[in-house]
Amino acid sequence: MRLRFAPSPTGYLHIGNARTAVLNYLLARKYDATYVLRVEDTDMERSTRESEASILDDLRWLGIRWNEGPDAGGEFGPYRQSERFDIYKKYTDILLAEKKAYHCYCTQDELEEMRREASEAGRAFVYPGKCRNLGDAERAALEAQGRKPTVRFLVPDDETVVINDHIKGRVVFESGNIGGDFIIVRSDGVPVYNYIVIIDDALMKITHVVRGEDHLPNTPKQVLIARALNLPVPEYAHLSLVLGSDRSKLSKRHGITSVDVYRREGYLAEALVNYLAMLGWAAESGEEILGVDEIARQIEMGNLARSAAVFDFQKLRWMNGMYIRACELGKITDLFIPHLRDAGYDVSVLERSWLERVIDAVRGNCEVLSDVPRHAALFLDEIMEPDAEASAMLEEPDSKIVIAEAYRLITGELDETTYAAGLVGGIKKNTGMKGKKLFMPVRAMLTGSLHGPELDVTVPILGYGKCRRRIEYIHGRYAG
Ligand code: GLU
Repeated sequence: MRLRFAPSPTGYLHIGNARTAVLNYLLARKYDATYVLRVEDTDMERSTRESEASILDDLRWLGIRWNEGPDAGGEFGPYRQSERFDIYKKYTDILLAEKKAYHCYCTQDELEEMRREASEAGRAFVYPGKCRNLGDAERAALEAQGRKPTVRFLVPDDETVVINDHIKGRVVFESGNIGGDFIIVRSDGVPVYNYIVIIDDALMKITHVVRGEDHLPNTPKQVLIARALNLPVPEYAHLSLVLGSDRSKLSKRHGITSVDVYRREGYLAEALVNYLAMLGWAAESGEEILGVDEIARQIEMGNLARSAAVFDFQKLRWMNGMYIRACELGKITDLFIPHLRDAGYDVSVLERSWLERVIDAVRGNCEVLSDVPRHAALFLDEIMEPDAEASAMLEEPDSKIVIAEAYRLITGELDETTYAAGLVGGIKKNTGMKGKKLFMPVRAMLTGSLHGPELDVTVPILGYGKCRRRIEYIHGRYAG
């Protein structure tokens, strides 16, 4: 069994295409199939090598691995369509020789005119086959006018194409309804997607094409080409569309659609892969948090989702938070570090084991990695300026008593070894404050906020020095 992902390198890796790549990868894992990566770069104006590199990089980041591709090689290469033009040319020559395709000399303007007429008459435009039966003399005359022909595929009359799609079921197309003879090679000599995709699927011995439903209307054209060239037709599974919350096609106005941006914002590859898989498949048990191995075990060509998937950005964030919590501490610390750096923290001066304690204390509040500076500031900053709520608390007369006692203790009898156990208890004993009147001002003093991790967790991680400096600071500002 051989599967493929065939991106067009005309921009970043879109999240919808990433889902196709992920599902193909999971199916390849499931069936121990070969996974082929083919770059469909025949849109010469829009395709770039930079885009190809970024797409491959994003796929690798997601953890997707392929057996054959432009970088990996393989016996059915080259794996870039732009490097296969001589192959397509041979097939075009066969089609022309067998009169299954013909040169068309209609110009853009003439075609525009035909289109306009059709639309005025309320008809869908179908190329009327004007150049189907040109004689040699007519062709020579048209060429003498400087016209550069396209090559059109001669769509046979009354052919039925039946696709037994693994997801859509039996889909029937009539050759009369696919828009007439279609262009397979443009006037500049560049062959078009619908033509070469099926040649490549055949030559690369692809057995199963799993791709977006937007390609379903293209499929009969591809099958007719295969029939004309005596090429095998793969099995198909057309994945339902990914929609935005308003059920229109997912686009930038719904939220982030670029895999690269998810990566930069601090989504975990594992979480994204899990979420994308769930946009095309569901576990029978209803479980949603599943690793690649488990999904690969359960997924089947026959149990892919039939209905359209709505991309829920909140849910993805939530899922990412679950992965952040479950991740091994050393690994998640490594992943958080660049985000701390970006926020200006010099992580290199921090002791690793201390940093891991900080990360463990705050990761529960992070849904994406880039949330971390906001939460870790509590530990990393020297002083925490009290927010409005904390400041109001520190202004209260009872709080001033707590501040004074905290200051007396931390600058007096408490030291590195006794402060963690002695501070709160000492204030309680010496001032008689308890409950909220005790904990709230202490929290406000040490963290600048009335919320956050438990003091039992915070105080030992902060350490004596930072606790002392913060108490001194608050004492200076509020005690008087
Ligand atoms: N290159 C096509 C695209 O990016 C995919 C073609 C296919 O899967 O057949 O939409």
